[in-house]
Amino acid sequence: MAKIYFIDVTNRDGVQTARLGLSKLEKTMINIYLNRMGIFQSEFGFPTTAHESLYLQANLELADIGVLRPIRLEGWVRASAADIERAFALVPSIRHLNLSISTSDQMINGKFQGRRGRADILRMMTEAVDTAWEHGAKSIGVNAEDASRTDMAYLVEFALAAKEHGAHRIRYCDTLGYDSPFSIYESVKTLAENTKMPIEIHCHGDLGMAVANSIAGAKAAIDGGQDAYINTTINGIGERAGNADLVATVLAVTKSKGFAEKYQLGKPVDLTKAWMLAKFASYAFGVPIPINQPGVGANAFAHASGIHADGVLKDPENYELYDFAELGRGEPELVETGREICSGEYSGVSGFRHLMGRMAMSFKDTEDARPILELVRYANVEAQQPLVKDELLFIARYPQIARKLLTLTPPDGTAIS
Ligand SMILES: [Zn+2]
Repeated sequence: MAKIYFIDVTNRDGVQTARLGLSKLEKTMINIYLNRMGIFQSEFGFPTTAHESLYLQANLELADIGVLRPIRLEGWVRASAADIERAFALVPSIRHLNLSISTSDQMINGKFQGRRGRADILRMMTEAVDTAWEHGAKSIGVNAEDASRTDMAYLVEFALAAKEHGAHRIRYCDTLGYDSPFSIYESVKTLAENTKMPIEIHCHGDLGMAVANSIAGAKAAIDGGQDAYINTTINGIGERAGNADLVATVLAVTKSKGFAEKYQLGKPVDLTKAWMLAKFASYAFGVPIPINQPGVGANAFAHASGIHADGVLKDPENYELYDFAELGRGEPELVETGREICSGEYSGVSGFRHLMGRMAMSFKDTEDARPILELVRYANVEAQQPLVKDELLFIARYPQIARKLLTLTPPDGTAIS
């Protein structure tokens, strides 16, 4: 039976969200946490973007040395041969790609203004797929942007053309959050049955249905005989109203009525990492977790009213579907209320050694600590907020890789395109 996998797109859809962003170190930490959680793939960035290339290369090195393994690191690129060329020029070791192009008449007409038609889209996409294979790609997904507003016969034709050129998966993008669980089920099932291709489900929350649509789409792919790859973001952060929240979607797949008995994960997800991951993303994005967020919100396991409190004290299952410990919650958190030494872009060596000493990381002497401190200062220039413990430890453990991903050198004028 076909299975469900997760592809997290926080480091792509999440960071392209208006008003929000992540430092390259924060993006790296997210990849590390996703890997620890057992997520199949991270869409880790934009290989054609110049300021992203050293971060992407550094993360691929982390994969080489086993730190980012087994998670698959995949880059998002527009489906154009020129962009594929540029991606491999900037990040030669990239091997997994998703190639994206609009497929709805609304977007083809609205974006290209009559300069391109449906046949041009097919040609551009297949040329891009061919180019990616020529440069050494190992896996390719093809994204149909605005799939939910695309004519179904054309969408099938598009997917079959991608398949014919060797693409592994088709991404059904409900780019505007237009689908309902009923409509996405019909569309994805038709797509699965007619293409016999694994399907990625990419949903947005403009109508408040991103998680519901994601599991309906996954069910449709599996009922149609194909594996489903659900796209998520941490805390649902993404364009406009956001994407399907990772933790909520894992909970929906594994805990909702009757679903888990029939529709199973292809790779186990360690939900006990959920709390840490959600908290880190909230801190890194500077966006608080809503009080009522599934699983990780402050109220997800809080009970006040008499009947509920009495009921949950007698037996938690009276009012809770799952236990807080399953999400890695329950450990008390220490919050410093007095004197505190934090990292910063102007930190000095004595404060830094004190800070690292509290994490049982000691340096022989001042000179030993200085190069790491220098990297920490640079990381703070990007983050503009104190680094968390795991970030400091990462820099101390992998200074060469940290140096690479913290290096931001704009190309000179002639090279800027
Ligand atoms: Zn999206």
